[in-house]
Formats: sequence, C-alpha cells, structure tokens
Amino acid sequence: MSKVNLKAAEVQVRETRLGSITGFEGSAKDLVLQARAGTLEDKSRSFSQCLGCSTSNAACTTVLIQDGVTISHGPVGCCGCLQEYAFTYRVNVAHRGVKETRQRRIFSTNMKESDTVYGGNAKLAASIREVYERTKPKAIFIITTCSSGIIGDDVGSIADEAEAELGIPVVAIFCEGFRSKIWTSGFDAGYHAIARKLIKKPLQKQEDLINIVNFWGSDIFANWFKRLGLRANYLTPYATVKQISESAQAKATVQICSTLGSYLAAALEQEYGVPEIRISPPYGIAQTDRWFRELGKMTGKEKEAEQFIKEEKEKWLAQIEELRNKLKGKTAYVTAGASHGHSLLALLKELGIKPRGAAIFHHDPIYDNEAESSDTLQNVVNDYGDIENYNVCNKQEFELVNILNKIRPDILLARHGGMTLWGAKLGIPSLLIGDEHYGMGYEGIVKYGNRILETIENDEFVKNFSKHTHNPYSKWWLSQEPFFFLGKDIKEEI
Ligand code: SF4
Repeated sequence: MSKVNLKAAEVQVRETRLGSITGFEGSAKDLVLQARAGTLEDKSRSFSQCLGCSTSNAACTTVLIQDGVTISHGPVGCCGCLQEYAFTYRVNVAHRGVKETRQRRIFSTNMKESDTVYGGNAKLAASIREVYERTKPKAIFIITTCSSGIIGDDVGSIADEAEAELGIPVVAIFCEGFRSKIWTSGFDAGYHAIARKLIKKPLQKQEDLINIVNFWGSDIFANWFKRLGLRANYLTPYATVKQISESAQAKATVQICSTLGSYLAAALEQEYGVPEIRISPPYGIAQTDRWFRELGKMTGKEKEAEQFIKEEKEKWLAQIEELRNKLKGKTAYVTAGASHGHSLLALLKELGIKPRGAAIFHHDPIYDNEAESSDTLQNVVNDYGDIENYNVCNKQEFELVNILNKIRPDILLARHGGMTLWGAKLGIPSLLIGDEHYGMGYEGIVKYGNRILETIENDEFVKNFSKHTHNPYSKWWLSQEPFFFLGKDIKEEI
C-alpha cells in the first residue's frame, strides 16, 4: 500500500507509517540487518529526558518560504522553538543569493486557559484574517500544537473557509507534539500539507529543472548543475510559493537528507510523476560517484556527469589523501539526526578517522519510496564497514554524556545546537556545521576534513572550559553503563 495518501488531511506518523524506532544500542550493521530482516523492534526507556517536538520540524518546512507566513495555533510557548528559524534565515540567506531578504513572519494565536475550555476556533479564524491584513502573504501555514489538538479545534475547516475568502492557500498542518516520539514526523506533516494544497498538477515539464529537498544549506548546486546543463529548484527554504507550486514540473527530485525529504520526494513521484533518485546523497567518494552517475542517467546527461566526476577528482583527490595522512589515528563520535548523521559517518570514514560510535535521533528501517537502495545507513556500512556503539536515541543527552565520558574521542561532530556543549564540558573538541551542503561532493570532503583538523588542533579553549565547568550528571550515573534505562523496567532493579 502506498505510504503517500494526499486525500487524507493528516499524514500517519513515522512509527506507524515506516516502523521507525527511537531506542537501539548495538552496531550499525546489526541495525541494518534487523531492518532488512523485518525484526527491528523499538525499545522504550524507563527514564527519559524531553524530546524534540514535531511542530518545530513542521515549521522548518514553512518558516523559511520567502513569501509565506506561519501561524502556530496554541500557547505562545509552543512557538518559541520556531524563532530559531528566523535566526537561521538571517545567517544563511547570504549563502543562497536571495536578493530581497525579509524578516520572518511567525505568529501565535496565544491560546490561554479559557480557550482550552471554550475552544480556540474563533481565535484562529480572527488571527488568520489579522495576519493576512498585516502581511499580505502569498500563503498562510497553520501548525497545530498539543493544546489545539487535544481540545479538537477544527483547524482544517477554518483554513478552508479562510482560503475561499482570502483567495490564497491557507494550509493546515497537523503536527501536535504528542502525536509522535519521532520529531521528524513534523517534516512529513509539513510536506504532506504542501503537497496537498500548494503543489499544482503540471501542465508542462521543465526538462532541466531538478527539485532539491534540503534544509537551508549554501547554493552549491547552482554551479554543479550549470556544468551539467541543469537548474536547481530548492524545496522549500528560501523558495517562493510560486516555485514550490511548480515543483511538479521538474525532471527529477533529489534529497540532501533522506530523513528530511523521504515523504515529499515520494509524494512528488507518486502523485505528480516526478521520479526520485533512490540512492544516498553525495557524501564520500563512492557515493558522490554513484549520485552524479544516477543523476546523469535520469536526466540524459551521462557524458556530462562522467566529465564532471573526472574534473572534480583531478582537482580534489590529492588533497583528500593529504588530509587522510594528517588525520590518521584520530577518533570521533557523531550525534545527529538520521540520515545526515549517516552522511557524517561516511565523511569520517572517507577521511580515515575512526568513528567510535554515534547517537542518532531515530531510525527508519525503510523510507517512503520503499527502496533498499535509499537506505543511507546500509550504504555507509556497505561502503566502509561497520560502526561500533551505534545508539538510536531521541536526543537523550544523559546517554550521550555517559558515552562521551567513557569513549573520549578526539572530536565530537554534532548537527544540532546544544549538543556540542556536552563535548566541550568534557574537554572534547566539538564541531557543529549548520550548512548541510558543506561536506557534499569531493570538495566537501576536503572542506570538512580541514574544519575537523582545525578543531582538533585548537583544543585549548575546551580544555580550559572543562576545568571550570559543572557537569550536572552525578558520579553514580557516569559510572553506569550508558543504556541502563533502555528496554527494561529499572524501578525494580534500583
Ligand atoms: S506542541 Fe506540544 S510538545 Fe510541542 S512545544 Fe507545544 S506543548 Fe510542547
């Protein structure tokens, strides 16, 4: 059965749609084998810290759209994590060549206790009209929260009524935090609503246009694609509502992170006939070779792709080798979402650095296209071998600190703000690169390798910092094994 159903107002969460999990400890190879054998089981924790919320990831698909606005329907606190995208917009806008930047437009209906008693429908309807009058957007996105979901506000009908009245898309996104333990369910909720309400059936095709489902990374594809006779259509950050609505006209879709783009790419293929490239994104030499060859095959640019690979390798391979010599014997630990975390592991292995483990926020045994060739962890294991101490955890920092304290790698690579702090507190050089395109291609291996080297060599600050910092975790916890609370009822043991 197709996992994409645009007739339904809401998308199923990842746990039920893909069988995704948030609790595992073992090796990367074990995890892949269990996923392939269909024996993967989630393990819950008898103690848990707070998780990421789906509203934040749903907002990631809407807040950076140039001419859209986002309304969070709930208490103002639920809107707090959305502000980080306003910051991201300002920081990354320079890398994306956006000519007319504008402040992000994020609103909250500010539900109060009385609204949870008498209902928030009227407040939402009035907020939509007020936001429209104040900002005159090309589309309005409404993201739901636990409060509006629990009291059963009819957000879909209110959005439809406003759309008919205002004459612009008013898009309801159902992404209450309590729906899923996997915050990336929020990406799916956002893209589901965008695919239903914004993307139009194609009346014509643009044969050189390639959709790129990405976060907010720098515009490396413009230069690459020019050499192949192609054009990039980034979805959805920094795009306009018009660009997004025309994405079904593209020749193909690629994703820079299969966790992010799994649903939208499948929806574009299944509902609008835009084929998706079913392999991992281009991180590491082997995968970059495959990715450009596959892109060439899908777009009839095989010769151009081979030429591109040849030229790029001539330029970068010697530098990669040089870095491998400098980084020989170094160790690392990765904490990130899947599958960008898998890409970081590929980069480490390519540079000859030994990953001593990883704390990855969830695991999808299969993506929405159901193609094993898209399994980014499987591709890393096949290309570079197993990874020990592979842990799936939804940002459980207490486990991360425990592991880092025992493993003490030469560097911590993190993908999310707040996680590098734990490495620094232990005196471990820690690196967070927000631009997800930074490590892509042959050139990316060199750029990332240089940043890793620079971070390891400049460790004075973290060494001093660790001497003067307070670790909130007790000696008792740090002496336990890291997965003490995973998969068992610990109350009986303590
Ligand atoms: S939507 Fe729910 S989980 Fe998310 S911030 Fe609001 S109350 Fe918390």
